[in-house]
Amino acid sequence: MIVTRFAPSPTGYLHIGGLRTALYSYLYARANNGKFLLRIEDTDLKRNSQEAAEAIVEAFKWCGLDFDGEIVYQSNRFDVYKKYIQKLLDEGKAYKCYMTKEELEALRNEQIANKQRPKYDGRYRDFKGTPPAGIDPVIRIKAPLSGEIKFDDGVKGEIKFNAEDILDDFVIARSDGSPTYNFTVVIDDALMGINQVIRGDDHLSNTPKQIVLYKALGFEIPKFYHVAMINGTDGHKLSKRHGATDVMEYKKMGYLSEALLNFLVRLGWSYGDEEIFTMEDLKKKFSPNNLSKSASTFNQSKLEWLNQHYIKEAKFEYLVEKLKDFDLDLSKNSHAKLLIDSLRERSKTLIEMSNSAKNILNRPKEYDEKAYRKFINEDSLELLNKFSVILDKDMSAAEYEEATIKFLEDNNSKLKNLAQPLRVAITGTSVSPSIFEVIEILGSDEVKTRINNIINKE
Ligand code: GLU
Repeated sequence: MIVTRFAPSPTGYLHIGGLRTALYSYLYARANNGKFLLRIEDTDLKRNSQEAAEAIVEAFKWCGLDFDGEIVYQSNRFDVYKKYIQKLLDEGKAYKCYMTKEELEALRNEQIANKQRPKYDGRYRDFKGTPPAGIDPVIRIKAPLSGEIKFDDGVKGEIKFNAEDILDDFVIARSDGSPTYNFTVVIDDALMGINQVIRGDDHLSNTPKQIVLYKALGFEIPKFYHVAMINGTDGHKLSKRHGATDVMEYKKMGYLSEALLNFLVRLGWSYGDEEIFTMEDLKKKFSPNNLSKSASTFNQSKLEWLNQHYIKEAKFEYLVEKLKDFDLDLSKNSHAKLLIDSLRERSKTLIEMSNSAKNILNRPKEYDEKAYRKFINEDSLELLNKFSVILDKDMSAAEYEEATIKFLEDNNSKLKNLAQPLRVAITGTSVSPSIFEVIEILGSDEVKTRINNIINKE
């Protein structure tokens, strides 16, 4: 069975790049009837917080990513890590190192001065003497100091590291007994039965160390997939400079999670030349074999395009629900369906949709200056005044249109003389969906009131 995981360190919020790797892991599991587990890597008690962990769970909820079983918190697992550190000590695969900070520093400076790579020199590896008093030792793993460490990365192909160039007997527990990052990842991935690890390629340099630990502990090594980074349009790694990196910011900006997920899945994965994928599609089609080797570019306009697509396709009730977050409750508006349908095509975000809807529903407090100057004059006000006669009962948009055509014929006028002044009168601006739909949405009385308001303005 495929078992994947997402293992964020909770330092603030869920990063958009994190959501992408979570999504890949999620889809890989779901496409194969596997399991997708969530582990919060919160051992750094200074940098991690409960709120940050909750923010991740909240973002998962918004996106509809469900995980299997309970969340695993590393901060609850110090006993487990201790046990395995002791096991490695007992088996002679790890050892205590009593080097002081000053000694380490001196060694480092000497190596740099000799143009050598700074690394631990193994001086306590086979130490049998009496340990120096008053020093809490760190625990180091006995790493292979020569030969190759190889693995077959699911994205990058065969990866080879020369042990001599990259390894030393690295620390697995600090002098206060707390385990280090690479150690906890390996213990948990192994004990949680994770056999497929999808993560950002910024972790590639950790992998040889983790492989050393898997081998020392006698655990099976999972398959690794190191996915290429997401860049901003300037080719640099995506950061706040390029725009929002917090997943929940996208919610606030009026994006649907469907659009964000579709956008993210395509940043670094492809399926022929298809662009639109529902989650149901993805749960069938996703395979990590199509993950791209090269970095992808975060293209905001593509995200907008997808958002517009999902707004266009969304169920009416769904949009009513989502618009509540944007200060618009249409649940009791009997014309809500028409209103939403008339705005779907023209809204890139829920914020735009909400603003356009409010622009129709609320009487204009003021008129757009340019539109007013251009379209409102004595003639147009007179035409608007006369137009009120057809507003004696509520009708459908099609009926309003028919009545308007007749009205214009009777008055020897044209739609172009009426439509824009009417828009300005009704919405205060010269842009709105079909004017007849707007009249149906508001009803005759309200439209009459707005016409009177503009007539009596001065
Ligand atoms: N906790 C790590 C991070 O947030 C990820 C660990 C992993 O995926 O192996 O960057």
